Amino acid sequence: MHQIILKNVSKKFTTKTLGSVTAVDHFNLSVEEGECFSFLGPSGCGKTTTLRMIAGFEDLSEGEIYLGGKPVSIKEKNIYIPPEERGLGMVFQAFAVWPHMNVFENVAFPLKVKKVNKSEIKRLTQIVLRHTNLEGLEGVYPSELSGGQQQRIALARAIVTSPRILLLDEPLSNLDPKLRESMRFEIKELQKKFNFTILFVTHDQSEAMALSHRMLVMDMGRIIQVDTPANLYNKPVNRFVHNFLGQSSFLRVEIRDGKAYPKGDLSQELPCNTEKATRPEMLLAVRPNEIHLNRLKGYRTKIEKRMILTDNIEYFVRIGDQTLKIETPHRIEFQQGEPCCVDLIHSIWYEDDGIDLEAERNKRQLI
Ligand code: ADP
Ligand code: MG
Repeated sequence: MHQIILKNVSKKFTTKTLGSVTAVDHFNLSVEEGECFSFLGPSGCGKTTTLRMIAGFEDLSEGEIYLGGKPVSIKEKNIYIPPEERGLGMVFQAFAVWPHMNVFENVAFPLKVKKVNKSEIKRLTQIVLRHTNLEGLEGVYPSELSGGQQQRIALARAIVTSPRILLLDEPLSNLDPKLRESMRFEIKELQKKFNFTILFVTHDQSEAMALSHRMLVMDMGRIIQVDTPANLYNKPVNRFVHNFLGQSSFLRVEIRDGKAYPKGDLSQELPCNTEKATRPEMLLAVRPNEIHLNRLKGYRTKIEKRMILTDNIEYFVRIGDQTLKIETPHRIEFQQGEPCCVDLIHSIWYEDDGIDLEAERNKRQLI
């Protein structure tokens, strides 16, 4: 069954400074029961607004939302179900714990609001505290706990009423990197235990890839691509998605007689297939870890610069008039200035439309 359905959902905001902004633009989405689905995109692209409309905190300008098969927001028919009746659990970016309540009271609060009886509150709260590793901390106040523990309280409170759907809006962004990683696994474990449908919003690509069955990349209110993490990484539909997920370099390339030459050097071919190059000038997208740096085969150049990192070495080489970044394991070692060959293991062609949307994107962040 589809647990979450959005049909043609749009949201326009009108602000004094910028006039009308379409924060969410004809958004269509179906999320399966038990699926962990992530929203990925730059700041200001409409992730939070979409989640707030699903939660019922934000009115729709247009469209329909169904949760668990029931209509909850239908603009045309004036249907609107309030957040507390939508069967959702939510965790938002800022630690939303109440400082004047101890851990038990914080987590039990939604049950109290629902007027569940006292012994049942105790039983359900204890179960959730156990699953979120907060057992033994019942009487402690949030200010005495770490950021990670506080975020666990918010998570425990979101799931104590056994919602079918969990909305998580950048719940880990205030935590340090190590803690983020362990919390990701905890969320994944909780999902396996309770089989929630999760909508997870993040601007952190590796977080989304680690947690999701499927995810979408959006830009300026529009969905650009929906797919599995692997497909989004390996088969991005455009340059924006390629650049957003993982590291990318874009080489400007000229195509002559079916051969590819880097801009600024028509003396040497690039080792790539040109069948899918549709124009005389194209962009060739390559990832730093999909390049074979060697001494025998490929485009001949030399090491311009190198940087030794913990897990790999970063090399910068000249390709025509451009610089290409390459990442290799430590065992592939070249010195600065040493001649080398660059073989491209995997690359994708994009047409350079010359349109730069960066200014429009930045404007959205400022509002
Ligand atoms: P994200 O969560 O992806 O960073 P948001 O959904 O918060 O993006 O914002 C999307 C766009 O809508 C931005 O341009 C933002 O400034 C605008 N926006 C969000 N909320 C409001 C509001 N209450 N009033 C006016 N503009 C808003
Ligand atoms: Mg947001």
